[in-house]
Amino acid sequence: MLVQTTVAVGIKRYPRFLRCFPTLSSLARASKDAVLKEWEGLGYYHRARHLHEAARIIRDRHHGAFPSSYSDIRALPGIGDYAAAAIVNFCFEGNVPPIDTNVARVGARLFGIAGDVRSGGVRREVRHRLHGLMSVGRGAVWTDALIELGALVCAPRHPLCPSCPLRSDCRAYRQGAVERFGLPPARPPQRREVNVACGIIRRRDGRVLIAQRPEGGLLPGLWEFPGGKRQGNERISETCRREIQEELGINVEMGERHMILRHAYSHIGCQQFRWVRVAEMSRYAFPAANRHIIAEIERPENQP
Ligand code: SF4
Repeated sequence: MLVQTTVAVGIKRYPRFLRCFPTLSSLARASKDAVLKEWEGLGYYHRARHLHEAARIIRDRHHGAFPSSYSDIRALPGIGDYAAAAIVNFCFEGNVPPIDTNVARVGARLFGIAGDVRSGGVRREVRHRLHGLMSVGRGAVWTDALIELGALVCAPRHPLCPSCPLRSDCRAYRQGAVERFGLPPARPPQRREVNVACGIIRRRDGRVLIAQRPEGGLLPGLWEFPGGKRQGNERISETCRREIQEELGINVEMGERHMILRHAYSHIGCQQFRWVRVAEMSRYAFPAANRHIIAEIERPENQP
C-alpha cells in the first residue's frame, strides 16, 4: 500500500483491509472485484490483483501456509528477486543477498567489480560473492546491515569511507578509486531539437516587444522575442503568426525578412512582456540564440 499512497492513508487503510480479509483463506475466497473495491484509491491496482492471486496459489499449492523457500516465494505473483530475498531472510532465516541499487553499489565497491551497477552481470556477481559471506540463520541482520550501509554510509558520491566498518576489506577504497565502482555510467545529456519561430514586433516609436520566460523550466527568467514551437509541417511564418496570436491575442502581418538559426529548447509561455528600445536591449538577459537576432536588429540599415 505504501508504494503509491502516504503513510497517513496507509495507517488507516491497512487495518481496514485486514478487517475485510482477516486471513489468507478469506482473501483467497473473496472475489477479485471485492479485493479491488477494498483497494480503491490506493493506486497500483495490479498489486491488489497479485495479492489476491498469491493468496489463491498459497491456498491451493501450499496448503494455506506461506512458503518458506526462496524459489517458492519468488514464484508468487508480484514478488521479485529483492522482495523474495527480504522475505526469506527476515521471516525464514534465509541467507539470500537482497540486491537493490544500494546493496549492488556496496558489493561492487567491496569486491572491486567494475561495470554498470544496473547490469544483470554485475548484480549476479555481487549476489554470488555476498552469498558466500552471508551466514545461514543471520540473513535478517545481514540484510538490514547491507541496506543501511548502502543508504547511509556508502553513498553514490562522497561515501563516508573513514567510518565504514568494511573499509579494511574494501577493494575500491584500498585502490583509492571508490567512485570508479558501483555507479551507472554517466548519460550523455539529452538533446531535443525543435523548430522555433519568433517575431520582431516593432511599435511605431521603434520599440520592440520582448517576453520573459517563466521561472520554472528551461532558461528561467531570460528574455526572448515572442514566438514558439512549430507544429507539424507548418510554414515558419505561419508558426510565428499563430504563436503571437495565441500568446498576445494580436494578429500580425509578416514582413519580408526572416532569418534561420539552429537552437534547441522548449517554449512554455512567459511571465511578462515589455516594449524596449533597441539601445536598451543589452540590459536584458537573452538566450544565446537571441543575440544573433539582436545583432541584426541593431544594424543601422534595419532601423525604422
Ligand atoms: S569503504 Fe567506502 S566504498 Fe568501501 S564499502 Fe565502505 S563506504 Fe563503500
